[in-house]
Amino acid sequence: MAQPTVTDIRAYVLRGGGADYHDQQGTHWIDDHIATPMSRYPEYRESRRSFGLNVLGTLVVVVEASDGSTGFAVTTGGEPAAWIVERHLSRFVLGAPVTALERIWDQMYSATLFYGRKGLVLNAISGVDLALWDLLGAVRQEPVHEMIGGAVRDEQRFYATGARPDLAVRMGFLGGKLPLHHGPAEGAEGLAANLALLADMRAAAGPDAWLAYDCWMSLDTDYALRLARGAAEHGLRWIEEPLPPDDYWGYQKLRKALPPGTLLTTGEHEATRWGFRMLAEMGCADILQPDVGWCGGLSELLRITAIADAHGLLVVPHGSSVYSYHFAVTRHNSPFSEFLMMAPAADEVVPMFHPQLLDEPVPTDGRLSVSTLDKPGFGVRLDPGLPLHRPYPR
Ligand SMILES: [Mg+2]
Repeated sequence: MAQPTVTDIRAYVLRGGGADYHDQQGTHWIDDHIATPMSRYPEYRESRRSFGLNVLGTLVVVVEASDGSTGFAVTTGGEPAAWIVERHLSRFVLGAPVTALERIWDQMYSATLFYGRKGLVLNAISGVDLALWDLLGAVRQEPVHEMIGGAVRDEQRFYATGARPDLAVRMGFLGGKLPLHHGPAEGAEGLAANLALLADMRAAAGPDAWLAYDCWMSLDTDYALRLARGAAEHGLRWIEEPLPPDDYWGYQKLRKALPPGTLLTTGEHEATRWGFRMLAEMGCADILQPDVGWCGGLSELLRITAIADAHGLLVVPHGSSVYSYHFAVTRHNSPFSEFLMMAPAADEVVPMFHPQLLDEPVPTDGRLSVSTLDKPGFGVRLDPGLPLHRPYPR
């Protein structure tokens, strides 16, 4: 069947929150003395912006089809990703049928193997893939979740990531995931402070709330184990990304040693079916958390989730708003989702990718009805008032 073809692809960059949610100004819980692999250097301990967590900014990929339809996606990647999209990946997209998602993905991945495989290149590939899914939805006038098999439930439940799980529970969320504040370099005192905060949050959030700690790659296996053992008495549901993502062996060892009932989760900085195959086969985690904007896009996430399913693992994507929601509602092994509390004090629900997207749905009472996703593509619009900059026009 003759399909419309892709007639244009453009890559733009944006600053100030949105898809690059770390790119915040002023006081914000997301940059309040959070433990990182850089915390061993006192000068980079107080703020993640100090070591450059917000250097990239947002990448916006816009695609157009011969029938006049348009699609777009946002992810993290900024100028370097814009260069990769315009100067390298565009050749595999221009002139292709809007349905050629598999071939385009394979060509983008195969052609970048000599400098790609993970990280920034996969962010760029993810942005193109998500924009093409949005375009296909626009051509077909169909929501993405219907194009990938349809929803398996009527509503999605959420936990909240942020500094105030106690407030999140009152807003209807299943519970909250706290950022860990102190890493191994801050010694016994830091460990005690980490456990004291968890104890306070348990007291404030009540006995049934989920509580988890997001460790953002900051620990070693010994510290992670001591944290998990101390946290077990406060009912820690999971310990997230405690080790650097390349330490598959550490994750394997840690998972076997964790107290009963404490789950190990990771994957937001992992990419592709091969990276997640490693995590699954080596028994590195109980819940895999790919970011659909970083792991290779929706096309790759569908392959990752099949691997996870065959290993009895849950896939609960990292953040990413509508790009995750359209996926999660279609999979039994994605029974709940993450919501990033982007209000600076984590005290109210605001759209995760504000101020970049219009019509972005947010959970009400910790729940999102699938009917809110019933619009073509991913169902969101790029705010036309944004100061889009195209650094590498072709
Ligand atoms: Mg995380």
